[in-house]
Order: sequence, then structure tokens, then C-alpha cells
Amino acid sequence: MSSKRVLIVEDESDIREILIYNLRREGFIAEGYASGREGLEAIKRLKPDLVILDLMLPELDGLTVCQQVRADPSVHSTPIIIVSAKEEESDIILGLGLGADDYMTKPFSPRELIARVKAVLRRGQAVSDGPQNDRITIGELVIDVERHEVTVGDESIPLTATEFKLLHQLASFPGRAFSREQLLNRALGEGVVVVDRNIDVHIRAVRKKLGSLADSIETVRGIGYRFADPRSDRSS
Ligand code: CA
Repeated sequence: MSSKRVLIVEDESDIREILIYNLRREGFIAEGYASGREGLEAIKRLKPDLVILDLMLPELDGLTVCQQVRADPSVHSTPIIIVSAKEEESDIILGLGLGADDYMTKPFSPRELIARVKAVLRRGQAVSDGPQNDRITIGELVIDVERHEVTVGDESIPLTATEFKLLHQLASFPGRAFSREQLLNRALGEGVVVVDRNIDVHIRAVRKKLGSLADSIETVRGIGYRFADPRSDRSS
């Protein structure tokens, strides 16, 4: 397997160097850029396999960089992990809404970083927003889209149309966090009458019905929800 190229856009040189060091040690080609403008230019020039993007950056902030990458057909599907300080939770939600694939809050450990980078690369073209079709199998959970049926082991799980769509959206992208707004827009979409727009209520109902698998829908504090990635050792 050829080495994957990861670009780091981060203005704090200490953090940038630690990221580069740890990624190189894992066999990645890693390069750092200190401003949003330099980072964006490098992304367009080098077409990396993944970008780690700080939000608070000189010249161009991270959200703008994210937006411009997604708007450029030559690089629009580049996976992006945004990094930010904990206090910038609303920016993380904006970032996910602009198509970032995942996020990390500072401080994070090198181990968490590497796990996250590998998970996002594994997911591949994670920016495609539509859930998968036909059938999703995650451990004991089977979502049969055509038959609109969910089973856990031998047991059939009766879900409402809204609950089904939410579970389908989350389970299509294990490990990826979605904000409530994204779930409303993407999972439920247009043409669907949602009586109760309170996502939390629906999620609670899905969890209850999933029984022993209730924990597979994780609450991402300050952000929204995600389906636990069965291959990730990340704890939350
Ligand atoms: Ca910064």
C-alpha cells in the first residue's frame, strides 16, 4: 500500500509538529501549513488523502477553508478532520454542516489522532451524503432498506418511519457525528412530514427499541449523535 498523504493546517507550531511527527511515525506522508490560505493552496496543489484542519487560523479561517474545498470539484471529496478548542462547539457543528468528516477537540492524544485518521480513511468517500441502499449489517443489527425492516438477531424491531430513517442515516456512517440539524435535513429530508421535530425524542425511542444495542447510538456531547464505529477503539 502506498503511503497516504495527510496535510495539517494548524498555526500553533507545537501542535503542528507533534501531528507531523506522529503521522510520519505511522507511515503517512505528513506536511504542515501555518495559515488557512497556504493550507488551501496546498490542498488544491497536492490533492492529499486527508486534511487535518484547525478552525482558528490566520488569513482564512478553517470553516472557510472547509467550505472552499467542498466547493472545488478537483478536491471536493477530500476527507477533512477539523480540530478546535472545546469552547468552539458551535463551530464544530458548523464544520460538520459544511461537510467535515470528523472532528477532534484539543487537547487530543496522538493515539486518538491516529485512530481517527485511520477511521476516516477507511470510510473512504465519506462526504457522499446519501445513506447506503439495500442492506446494512453491523454485528447483530441488520437494516433491510428495501423491506423497511430492522432486526437485532432474530428479533424484528418495529420502528416508525422517522425512527427508521434516523437509524439508517446514522448506521450508514459508523463513527461519524451528525448534528441534530443535519439529521433533520439529511435523514428526514424534504417531503417527509415530521410531526415532532425534536430529534432527541426520536433517538430515545430508537434506543429503547434497540434494547441490548441501545448504546450503539452514542450521544456526542454538544454536537448530536453518531452510530458507534465497531472497528474503532475510541471511547467517548
Ligand atoms: Ca489555531
